[in-house]
Amino acid sequence: MPVGGPRTPLRVAIIGSGPSGFYSAEHLLSQDGVNVQVDMFDRVPTPFGLVRAGVAPDHQKIKSVTRVYERTAADDRFRFRGNVEVGRHIDHPDLMEYFHAVIYAVGAAADRRMGIPHEYLPGSHSGPEFVAWYNASPLDRARTYDFSGFRAVVVGNGNVAMDIARMLVLPADELARTDMARHAVTALAEGNVREVVMLGRRGPAQAAFTPKELREVAERDDIDVIVHPDEVALDPHSRHDAEQHPDRNRDQNLEILRELAARGDRGRDRRIIMRFLASPVSLHGTNHVEAVEVARNELYRGDRGALRARMTDDREMIPTGLVFRAIGYQGVPIAGVPFDPLTATIPNEAGRVIDPLDGSPRYGEYAAGWIKRGPTGIIGTNKPDAQETVETLLQDLRAGHLQRRVPSRRVLARLVGERQGDLTSWADWQYLDQTEQEMGAEVGAPRIKFARVETMMRFLGERDGS
Ligand code: NAP
Repeated sequence: MPVGGPRTPLRVAIIGSGPSGFYSAEHLLSQDGVNVQVDMFDRVPTPFGLVRAGVAPDHQKIKSVTRVYERTAADDRFRFRGNVEVGRHIDHPDLMEYFHAVIYAVGAAADRRMGIPHEYLPGSHSGPEFVAWYNASPLDRARTYDFSGFRAVVVGNGNVAMDIARMLVLPADELARTDMARHAVTALAEGNVREVVMLGRRGPAQAAFTPKELREVAERDDIDVIVHPDEVALDPHSRHDAEQHPDRNRDQNLEILRELAARGDRGRDRRIIMRFLASPVSLHGTNHVEAVEVARNELYRGDRGALRARMTDDREMIPTGLVFRAIGYQGVPIAGVPFDPLTATIPNEAGRVIDPLDGSPRYGEYAAGWIKRGPTGIIGTNKPDAQETVETLLQDLRAGHLQRRVPSRRVLARLVGERQGDLTSWADWQYLDQTEQEMGAEVGAPRIKFARVETMMRFLGERDGS
């Protein structure tokens, strides 16, 4: 019986339930004439990856993309197996034995290093971990932050840096009306942070944040966004690029930044100071961060025409006890799966995993999303990315590369149940989801998120009368 035919379903494991996992599932389940079963695993009990644990709490509209994922999950051929970690409860050989194909859609779980002295002094934090903490990720619940100081420094000039800066200065009552983790709402409300300095290592024309996010803070009346006029003036290289190569995002960013530079300081008691051509050289402090030493940079044209930053001797100290490193995410290796440490991705060709040594295909193993292409793009970028991966998988199916006998879904369910008693199903998630929304409705928030696995399990146990 051919795999994918009426009697032998194509059994696919998807590891990770973020956008790339769900778009992969959607595309697989929409194939006419392919009998397919999808089992999606996630290491936390709840689905949606960075839509739940990454998208800023005040960006609820973006999160409504989960309605599309819910339609996929409603398909009879789909199973969600939450709170199951690959590498702990099941491993690579298990996946190879129980499925015809595995799609790794695990995202980029770590953060990049700045590579400067005293980078990890207490008080210096990973931006991605902070984002996960304020979004109630149970993996990051135990972290603590000291918001007692007036100023925080956020290194990086992307949308994550922008999200962090905004969360640090938004008024507490506004945060309380979002789905921000309650522990974060309380800690920020009790804190004193009123000024955030964002450090961009290159110039305003190379900023990675998008105009919509910049405008969002620029248009607020209660927050000053301060830009130094001399830092917003373009250097000759950037001016040349701006004249020769139109770029809508860049040009809109520049327009807003120039307006901000002209507007100046309005004396609001909350402010974001956007610095450009400014790189941290070292963190200073004895047992805790006390200051960031910053170098002024200049731009030069590097390989393939890209403008790169180089430090000058011009230095300054910015006193602060709180630093966030928001300089990008980074993929982490999975035992048994090839990994390219240079790009921190799984080496692949159109989604099919390849052997890094000789480039030979590893049929049955695929990658989608950030672990496939690196941590770039918006949520929607993952749709064509996942579709490409699934098309490659189907090509391998048609070519006969996935013809193997694998155990039935019932056998898999038994194995997973033995390895992890506390796993969650889609119905469990629906119950948690509804409970979160009901708790939120009582306080005027979209939801109150569960931030601990034990609490989620207790609620599920109470529902079941156990
Ligand atoms: P990102 O867009 O790649 O930005 C990373 C920033 O860090 C860049 O400004 C980069 O500068 C800087 N950087 C890197 N290494 C540095 C170093 N050693 N020292 C100083 N600065 C350094 O990454 P991200 O902000 O983590 O966002 C990840 C993706 O998610 C992006 O595609 C982003 O647009 C998306 N996202 C979107 C939203 C939204 O739509 N609202 C929200 C959050 C995230 P260089 O440019 O000089 O390398």
